[in-house]
Amino acid sequence: MNELLQVYLSAWPTVWAMDTARYLVAATLMATILALFWRAGLAQRKLQPRDANPGQKRREILASLRTAFIFSLLGAIIAVGDRQGWITIYKGFDRAGPLYLALSLALMLVAHDTYFYWAHRAMHHRRLFTLFHRTHHLSRTPTPWAAYSFAIPEAIVHGAFVPLFLLVVPMHGLGLLAFGVVQILRNVMGHAGAEVHSAAFGPGRWLGWNNTTTHHDLHHEAGRYNYGLYFRWWDKLMGTEHPDYRRKFEAIVSPGTAAAAPLGAGRTAVGAIMGSVLAGGFFLTAGPAHADDGLGGRWMTQGAAAIVELAPCSGTPGLCGTIRWLWDAVDDKGRPRLDGQNADAALRTRPLIGLSILSGLTPTAGGGWTGRIYNPEDGQTYRATLRRGGADALLIEGCVLFICQKQVWRSASALASALH
Ligand SMILES: [Zn+2]
Ligand SMILES: [Zn+2]
Repeated sequence: MNELLQVYLSAWPTVWAMDTARYLVAATLMATILALFWRAGLAQRKLQPRDANPGQKRREILASLRTAFIFSLLGAIIAVGDRQGWITIYKGFDRAGPLYLALSLALMLVAHDTYFYWAHRAMHHRRLFTLFHRTHHLSRTPTPWAAYSFAIPEAIVHGAFVPLFLLVVPMHGLGLLAFGVVQILRNVMGHAGAEVHSAAFGPGRWLGWNNTTTHHDLHHEAGRYNYGLYFRWWDKLMGTEHPDYRRKFEAIVSPGTAAAAPLGAGRTAVGAIMGSVLAGGFFLTAGPAHADDGLGGRWMTQGAAAIVELAPCSGTPGLCGTIRWLWDAVDDKGRPRLDGQNADAALRTRPLIGLSILSGLTPTAGGGWTGRIYNPEDGQTYRATLRRGGADALLIEGCVLFICQKQVWRSASALASALH
């Protein structure tokens, strides 16, 4: 007995340091990303209009550090279980290969999602809510620091998962480590307060079975719906997914599509203006520069904000794109719009019309194009990928790290002929 206590006490400091460090590193990382990319696009992805309450962050951090402490008290039991042979944490690949490691990790995540979903739903029962779960929901507008912001009883429920799982499934030490990393990263992403997932995580898209920041943020905002941790499966199956989830996610990651809808109402006005542009012979030069590259010519950006001409760059290889027309070509004082958001103050006086915003586009093996796109609205340069989408559409995606914006541009000549 004394020996087991020794094992427990010698394991505990390491477990505690790892649980605490994991939380602090992940939450700091997320908070830093939010700060760095706030102006570059995350501000537009803020999920709730209200801000976190004053003092909220401090409360979240203190509660999370307490949770890490409770996790470590439960986690150190694993060392005792390992010594006694109740559980198996193995090293090397003698007994089981990398495939087992991958499968057991996947199983652990699916099992944790299931455990979390049902425990979480139970804690929303009115008899249990105050004791277990009220602390976590004090953060109506969560921040990454809320990742472990639990009351003590809730922390015990969550901390019990890993020892319980290990009683059933032997795990490689690396699998266990990977689980800890995925768990905290998904957790801080869910509490980021601004959507940090790309459009590929939208419902119906290839990663759409995963939860997103919008998904868990809606849980905090509404106080119900969306109980899952990593995946949407249980919420879909049990009918507890927020009815507005899909619409809200899409509106936040592709604001262009949402904004394009009201524009439809003014189609006649658009048509009238486009007509006058046509009469001015604006599209005389429209049409592919090279029949085979398929990108050359004039393109209308999403929401008819601008027309960009794609043509071979002068002096450098690849294609370049230049703004040829703007919906809002002048400001309310009648002055031409300038590149006012540019990070380089010396460039802020250059007019937007005639500005080269796409540069160095080169073909990719997959049939698309890649290069750089400058967005005058935020003064940022994005990595851009372009691909033809049918006869008259160009699909553009611009990314800074993992923050991506998608747009569909339309061939100006196709629009011109549609207007006749
Ligand atoms: Zn909840
Ligand atoms: Zn939460």
